[in-house]
Amino acid sequence: MMPESAAPQTTALPEEEPDVWDDARRAVASLESSTGATPRWLAAISTLIVALLLLLVSFAANHINTDRAQETMRRVQHHTAVIEQTANTNVALLRVGVALRSYALAGASFQAETYLANWKVLNRRFAELAELVSANPLQTERTARLKADIDRYFVDYDAGGGRAMPDKQEVAERLSASTVAEHDRQTGVRVRGLFDAIANTERDTLAAIRLEAESDQRALQWIANICFILAILSGVVSLLLMQGDRGRNKLRELHLEFMHTQRLALMGQTSVAIAHEVNQPLTAASNYLAVLRNISAGGGQLPPERVKEIVPKIDVQIRRAGDIVQRLRNFLAVRGGERVSETPKTLIADAVDLLGTLDNTIKLETHIELGLPSVLVDRVQIQQVLVNLMRNALEAMKDKPQRRLILRASVMPGHKVKISIEDNGSGLPDQVARNLFKPFVSSKRSGMGVGLSICQTIITAHGGRIWADSTPKGATFHFTLPAAHQA
Ligand code: ADP
Repeated sequence: MMPESAAPQTTALPEEEPDVWDDARRAVASLESSTGATPRWLAAISTLIVALLLLLVSFAANHINTDRAQETMRRVQHHTAVIEQTANTNVALLRVGVALRSYALAGASFQAETYLANWKVLNRRFAELAELVSANPLQTERTARLKADIDRYFVDYDAGGGRAMPDKQEVAERLSASTVAEHDRQTGVRVRGLFDAIANTERDTLAAIRLEAESDQRALQWIANICFILAILSGVVSLLLMQGDRGRNKLRELHLEFMHTQRLALMGQTSVAIAHEVNQPLTAASNYLAVLRNISAGGGQLPPERVKEIVPKIDVQIRRAGDIVQRLRNFLAVRGGERVSETPKTLIADAVDLLGTLDNTIKLETHIELGLPSVLVDRVQIQQVLVNLMRNALEAMKDKPQRRLILRASVMPGHKVKISIEDNGSGLPDQVARNLFKPFVSSKRSGMGVGLSICQTIITAHGGRIWADSTPKGATFHFTLPAAHQA
């Protein structure tokens, strides 16, 4: 534990609201909404999700379309098969009729066999047709009626009805009867009517299927195409938003960098002026010391009244030099900004937001106690403190394979809020720990060693206190800020 201006206080954390990353993100979101800005990364992710959903809908519509097309194809094949089968049955019927008449005229036994064989084909065709239309009661009924009609017709000429060898004499007599023409005509009208009815029903069904499929397919194709185009557009918008966000973050990072550089440049200029000023009290102190040295070099005793007179003068001059240095620190740190009431959550959200732009590979945890009071702060200055402390933490962790940064905010006795920044970095080097918060103390090759000193000046100016704990497992910096109603 590294005491600075006073011994650090360890406070047991009351019930916390532990969460990682999400909590911080929510805090950023609430910060952004409180300033009226939409978090662009959220918009970018939402747009990306919308793009993916649209793409899914487009694929689903295409899939449904393909399924429907297959189903339509299956139905078309079925109804076409029924039409073909109706035509085949009609042809088989004609063949049976022709064979019977040939047999009646010539009487050769092979013609009787052809007649019987054609009957078998006709029966098979009917069985196949009945099977094909079995799902349609109307067509089934028509097929059955057709078959019965045909059977009845032939029995009038061939008593065996195509099942046994016909009697030539009998068939010839019946076919030569005077009623045959009328009988043929009546049966022909009925049979043709039924064949046509079966085939036409199937043709109408086919036409309806085609119409339905076309309109369905067109609608689904439109949905798929529109969703696909919208998905591409959403994807592009999402990319643009992400680009914009990255650009905005980069800008903010550059701005911070610029503020930092500007401060260093100012320090450079001011240092020259102040070095000149510091030179005066130091020269004066050195002159007083020379007087004392000359007196003792002359071998004479230093008269106590001269010592009494000169030593306080040396002291005054050295204090003057110290004051000038202090002025430099104050000049660098304090800008007399406006103080506003802020919740610790918002301050941390600011810091997390900035951290997001600095390094995304850190595992960040925030533990913000519920119901913390607001604090009265110059937001930019406290942001500077948090950024300095976080930057130091990141640098201390840069060689660690797993980097973890924990931000905590809790209430402290005496109407104060404590904010802590804990890292799992290298911990504070001993020589730095001894002079922590003193200006120009740095273990870094390019470090200025003024960051912590400025942090201390800012926190002290806010009526708070800053200190650090350090172990080989990492360092934790704490600072307090008075609650707004007490400040
Ligand atoms: P600088 O970063 O320019 O060196 P600072 O005043 O910010 O100046 O820090 C002073 C020194 O304190 C650093 O050089 C570093 O050695 C040490 N230090 C600060 N923060 C940490 C930390 N989180 N972990 C380890 N060392 C730290």
